[in-house]
Amino acid sequence: MSGVSDTRSPRILAIANQKGGVGKTTTTINLGAALAALGERVLLIDMDPQGNASTGLGIDRSQRDVSSYDLLMRQDDLPSAIRPTRFDRLSIVPATSDLSSVDIELAGERDRIGRLQAALHDDAIRGFDIVLLDCPPSLNLLTVNGLVAADGVLVPLQCEFFALEGISQLLRSVGEVRASSNPRLVTQGIVLTMYDQRNNLTADVENDVRETLGDLVFRTVIPRNVRLSEAPSHGVPVLIYDPRSSGSLAYIELARELRQRLGRGGSAKGDRA
Ligand code: ADP
Ligand code: MG
Repeated sequence: MSGVSDTRSPRILAIANQKGGVGKTTTTINLGAALAALGERVLLIDMDPQGNASTGLGIDRSQRDVSSYDLLMRQDDLPSAIRPTRFDRLSIVPATSDLSSVDIELAGERDRIGRLQAALHDDAIRGFDIVLLDCPPSLNLLTVNGLVAADGVLVPLQCEFFALEGISQLLRSVGEVRASSNPRLVTQGIVLTMYDQRNNLTADVENDVRETLGDLVFRTVIPRNVRLSEAPSHGVPVLIYDPRSSGSLAYIELARELRQRLGRGGSAKGDRA
């Protein structure tokens, strides 16, 4: 692995929202690729039993012999689980459907919420600048493992009617994890996804969300763009599939804004809301 001389720890961000279909996986893959395009060494960890991030990056079943399940359950070492992708500087720990039984298998284990954090205590982590955790659509033990291991939470939010209700529940959970087990956890930001400029409801919800959550909401919005939904079937990020699409440009812009918030190439920002 490159970067052996680098002794800093990476920033670990959980991409979380208990609602399904809001753009978590799309954001994990494409924000990850955009950060890598800007020079960051990025590791994605697929924490969803559906394994959509793994499939979307072209990691087929035969390459998943060591997966995020093995990190959590068998204490396999991190390097054995890391797979390169077709995108420079972008690697992934893939997921398999085995992950769906983790909640049951770990019930009653005292260290059950700290399994991922423990697995990331590995020298190999220093080969990366940013780690993105693609969480499942639930506030289950897998997501809690993500929140315990992370420095920040990034929340994709679809502009629809009940958007704010779901987010307050998620931010409560973030607060609980911060109070009980991970004091360094911040809400890194909320990103509006599948944004449709021609839809009045989108504008209304956006106004509401920005009024309520203020600077927590990224300035960059991710438009609805069919290229973003097509790219996964080709096993590549949209930056390879269609680099000039509105989706590509938006994720590059989001990557720039995130780097600024992280104090990597701009003013540092992050909020403990
Ligand atoms: P989640 O991981 O939160 O369940 P996904 O990222 O898998 O959500 O997105 C749900 C569906 O919406 C997928 O089919 C994905 O391709 C599509 N999608 C996500 N973001 C966009 C977008 N900005 N424009 C168009 N389609 C999108
Ligand atoms: Mg997903």
